[in-house]
Amino acid sequence: MNAQTHIPLRRTKIVATLGPASDREGVLEAMLKAGVDVVRLNFSHGTADDHRRRLLQVREIAAKLGRSVAALGDLQGPKIRIARFKEGAVSLKEGQPFVLDMAMDSDSGDVHQVGCDYKTLAQDVGAGDRLLLDDGRVVLDVTRVEGQQVHTQVVVGGKLSNHKGINKQGGGLSAPALTDKDKQDLKTAVEIGVDYLAISFPRHAEDMLEARRLLGEEGKEIGLVAKVERAEAVADEATLDGIIEASEAVMVARGDLGVEIGDAKLVGVQKRMIKRARSLNRAVITATQMMESMISAPLPTRAEVFDVANAVLDSSDAVMLSAETAAGDYPVETVQAMARICLGAEREKVAQESGHRIHEGFTRPDETIALSAMYAANHMTGVAAIACMTASGYTPLIASRIRSGLPIVGLAHNPVAQRRMALYRGVVSLPFDTSEMSATELNDRALELLVQHKLAEPGDHVILTRGDHMNAHGGTNTMKVMTIAE
Ligand code: PGA
Ligand code: MN
Repeated sequence: MNAQTHIPLRRTKIVATLGPASDREGVLEAMLKAGVDVVRLNFSHGTADDHRRRLLQVREIAAKLGRSVAALGDLQGPKIRIARFKEGAVSLKEGQPFVLDMAMDSDSGDVHQVGCDYKTLAQDVGAGDRLLLDDGRVVLDVTRVEGQQVHTQVVVGGKLSNHKGINKQGGGLSAPALTDKDKQDLKTAVEIGVDYLAISFPRHAEDMLEARRLLGEEGKEIGLVAKVERAEAVADEATLDGIIEASEAVMVARGDLGVEIGDAKLVGVQKRMIKRARSLNRAVITATQMMESMISAPLPTRAEVFDVANAVLDSSDAVMLSAETAAGDYPVETVQAMARICLGAEREKVAQESGHRIHEGFTRPDETIALSAMYAANHMTGVAAIACMTASGYTPLIASRIRSGLPIVGLAHNPVAQRRMALYRGVVSLPFDTSEMSATELNDRALELLVQHKLAEPGDHVILTRGDHMNAHGGTNTMKVMTIAE
């Protein structure tokens, strides 16, 4: 099998959330230089203007650096939260009664009771259910429901402050994935020009299809990301498959998912979800608390190093940073550390070998070419890269479902396609305009570009894929083994 012969290229992509920390002078540019491939605009915080301003800045810096950086808008979704306390916070003791009161006004909570912004909670829970507040730091068992009041007993006490989230263990809260705020934010996301849009808490494929409908004609080039973070989304294979197939990418949203299904189940679910997404030709992001301690420390813990490395070895397309880059003290150092760990893990042999779909039949010509190209590249001596001339980025997506040590170069003219590819593992996207080229010079121009970018050198082989008609969607039907002239 081929090893990487040229500059070390990081295959696993880094998604970094923007926020006050990345707004500090010079930080965003340093983060992009350190290797951020996708920026996440989190609609749970900040205004439309914040997101617009940040995206403009990203585009400006990316253009200056000659990079394709994608933007992922992330809708808040029906995150269920308690209302506010008179004094801002209370301290709950184990064993005491505590009431969540849907009828109460929103800022008069105390140590006995608090309001809630999710009015149907009283219908969705019953005696015996367990509620997890503040990502599971406070645990309440429901003892009875009386009208609008959910009576509970505190199982794990502690400090509880304004607006903390509520999850129900095992899932089963009925809130639809898209709230009125999400529908408004979705319009903003289309208007400011995101490349991907993440939907929070989808219950089933239909929630994703609704988002797709709301995106309409104007948002048709936006890739949908399903954040898998509800127990019911992973309860059976058919539901999870449906969600994956209704999306362009999925996120293992371990924060909320871990609270709903429990941390013991999370490990297996992460591994299975990544595998399934890749077999269904979708990209997959592993997210949340990957470098959590770096919010306030310049170095990761060993456990964090291994968490990132394991997500890489599981074949995630991308790993994600949340508060680390949005609100932490060391956003740039965090990206640098993550990039370094990804590279380290990718050097392992298992990260470069693949049995992907080895016993399966293919149906589409472009898929067949993409997978054959990877087989050829991984088995032939002297191959430096796989180069795919592509209109939409689809061939590189399919090719990158197969593990390899070699770069997959996506050559596209359309900036939307260029940025889409920023999420795909092992794919380098390079702008390539064929409109002024004659049919006979296309291949040579492509090879020249690879040499220019130090992805190949004289004497190397390159596996090239393309269609007869350039710029046609799904037109890839040819694979060539090219050799760069000495
Ligand atoms: P969040 O989603 O950061 O928007 O909550 C990710 C997660 O739950 O892991
Ligand atoms: Mn979440």
